[in-house]
Amino acid sequence: MTSHYAVFGNPISHSKSPLIHAAFARQTGQDMDYQAILAPLGDFAGSVAEFRAQGGAGANVTVPFKEQAFQLATRHTDRALAAGAVNTLKFENDGTLLGDNTDGAGLVRDIESNLGIPLRDTRVLLIGAGGAAAGVLQPILDREPAMVVVTNRTPEKAARLVARAIHGRTAVTACAFDQLRHEFDVVINATSASLSGKVPALPPGLFALDSLAYDMMYSQDDTTFMTWARGQGATQVSDGLGMLVEQAAESFYLWRRVHPHTAPVIQMLRSVR
Ligand code: NDP
Repeated sequence: MTSHYAVFGNPISHSKSPLIHAAFARQTGQDMDYQAILAPLGDFAGSVAEFRAQGGAGANVTVPFKEQAFQLATRHTDRALAAGAVNTLKFENDGTLLGDNTDGAGLVRDIESNLGIPLRDTRVLLIGAGGAAAGVLQPILDREPAMVVVTNRTPEKAARLVARAIHGRTAVTACAFDQLRHEFDVVINATSASLSGKVPALPPGLFALDSLAYDMMYSQDDTTFMTWARGQGATQVSDGLGMLVEQAAESFYLWRRVHPHTAPVIQMLRSVR
């Protein structure tokens, strides 16, 4: 019997998730379909309930509903609790609505496995303190970097994220852009500035030798952040397409208990966009 999945967002027509999950299903021989659903801004819960009543087995959730999905879930994974946001829902047979957040695992997998940069003992700069930054901070800390600095245009929001995090052996601080003093091995742009062709107003001198600049946004050409980072001396630059596919693979595993191969899907998306 075909199992039904969906992604809820508003807007949603641009979403690559249906393409990604269709590719995973073909590759692993899973009998499932996956559609994009435009949820009304005022009735996300109603839209999810309708899908569930029609036999939906699980769903992804994107902007602007990740916090509402967190509220809606009746049980949360640890990483969803750390993020305070949910991007994956699983409708359990006993009525439980399980909420997970796979964004951070997707980012870490892309940086460590696809780009070949272990985060352990590195110095990481996380720029931004919105939903995306909240989703990835704890999974980054769990890899035990030497240092993580969270910086944001509104610094109080960065401080709130840091206060909530479980630091472990990593030194974690928050600061304003103009207080940044260190060099970093990995610089992650988790702001939405690239969407409007802007780069956060960061000081020069952030990139260490052999550093990675990672923009969570993805687009056909280099993002403004990637171009800026190259000019600032970053050795390697990447957009967030790999993260998108890896977070989808984590969701797929939660639903189907099968790990799809991500490399051919990343390659396919790079060739069709
Ligand atoms: P939010 O709206 O929750 O947060 C936006 C963040 O960007 C805030 O920190 C905000 O700062 C900052 N910001 C916006 N404009 C500027 C600017 N001009 N200069 C400096 N800072 C700015 O968005 P999300 O966190 O949900 O998403 C952020 C990005 O991550 C988006 O581009 C999104 O597409 C991407 N993303 C990619 C994923 C992937 O799989 N590749 C997954 C999830 C997100 P302030 O607090 O001061 O307003």
